[in-house]
Amino acid sequence: MDDLMIIGNCPICGSPVVKTCKAYRCIKAVGQEPTCQFTLYPIVCNRKLSDAEASSLLGGETLLLDGMATNEGKCFTSTVRMDDTGKLIVDAKVSICPKCGGTIYAGAKAFSCGNHSGENACPFVVWRTYGGYSLTLKDVKEICENGVTANELTMYHEDGKPYSKRLALTPEKDKVVRI
Ligand SMILES: [Zn+2]
Ligand SMILES: [Zn+2]
Repeated sequence: MDDLMIIGNCPICGSPVVKTCKAYRCIKAVGQEPTCQFTLYPIVCNRKLSDAEASSLLGGETLLLDGMATNEGKCFTSTVRMDDTGKLIVDAKVSICPKCGGTIYAGAKAFSCGNHSGENACPFVVWRTYGGYSLTLKDVKEICENGVTANELTMYHEDGKPYSKRLALTPEKDKVVRI
């Protein structure tokens, strides 16, 4: 008999969570006399989770997921995390806008301010990538909340040469620059 594929620990009882034919399930939720009900279905908003993503969610990470879709077929990007009860929370809010105090939302191309219409529309945006580097949720929070990334990030010139820079807000807090 082959070994079970363990991908993490149950958020409810702490037992191993294994990959089964239809879902990731707590080892105590399979078999004749289940004592735990935890099941993680590998589809979130019409997008399939990889084993690695399921494992990260069970480990308490917040993931930035592209390619989710509403039942009407509209594609969207959001963050996904698991709460203490094992429920997946889909939430596009990422941070607070340093320019206007609005909410920064995750999107397919950028993290942008929710105040994007009306007379006082806010143009603040943090692109998803700078010089070939894909920003993490942590990077975006650091830029919006601390004004600068904690670490230098590896980016690339057009000829392929790498360089390291931090991303920071301008003094006017209206855009992101490399420093
Ligand atoms: Zn369990
Ligand atoms: Zn704003």
